[in-house]
Amino acid sequence: MEDLVLLARSSHGALVASALGPGEADACRCCGAAPAVLQVAGFLLCRTCVPAFALDEPGIDDIASLIWLPHVDQGVLGRIVAALHAAAGQQGLTIHDVDLRGQAALARMAFDALKAQEAGAIARIGTARPSALRTAALALDQVARRRGETGLRVLFNGNWFANAPDRYFETIRSRIPVG
Ligand SMILES: [Zn+2]
Repeated sequence: MEDLVLLARSSHGALVASALGPGEADACRCCGAAPAVLQVAGFLLCRTCVPAFALDEPGIDDIASLIWLPHVDQGVLGRIVAALHAAAGQQGLTIHDVDLRGQAALARMAFDALKAQEAGAIARIGTARPSALRTAALALDQVARRRGETGLRVLFNGNWFANAPDRYFETIRSRIPVG
């Protein structure tokens, strides 16, 4: 995918999600592992990857956070996170529920390990809020960017925007093979 800091610094207009145009259905341009359902700034994206691009979408801080994970590309992170949410979804639960069992409980531990990397984002740019990334990225000078601030990634929590909070859960449940 496009580097997150470069995207945040770009002159794209508002980075918000919109519907795909006719005939635009395709694989997600970020993870490549799921069908694109929305677009942001011309990038066709699946629901797991939309939050990594929709930095200006109202409510983005409620569904995602910035983490520091330089050795994992955003698209790979998207595949991992989708699998973790699916492991919980297979039990009819979300990764945030308290009574996860078996594989879902292990998925929760992995998700929490990713979530803990918010501290690295805060240490480098002063925030873990995606809505603050565009301003923070503009403030990075070239030295800071060479030092590796492009190791910032967006971690998707698995809940959807306020107008349809269950939408991701429904999407991930519909993709779990039966049997
Ligand atoms: Zn994707």
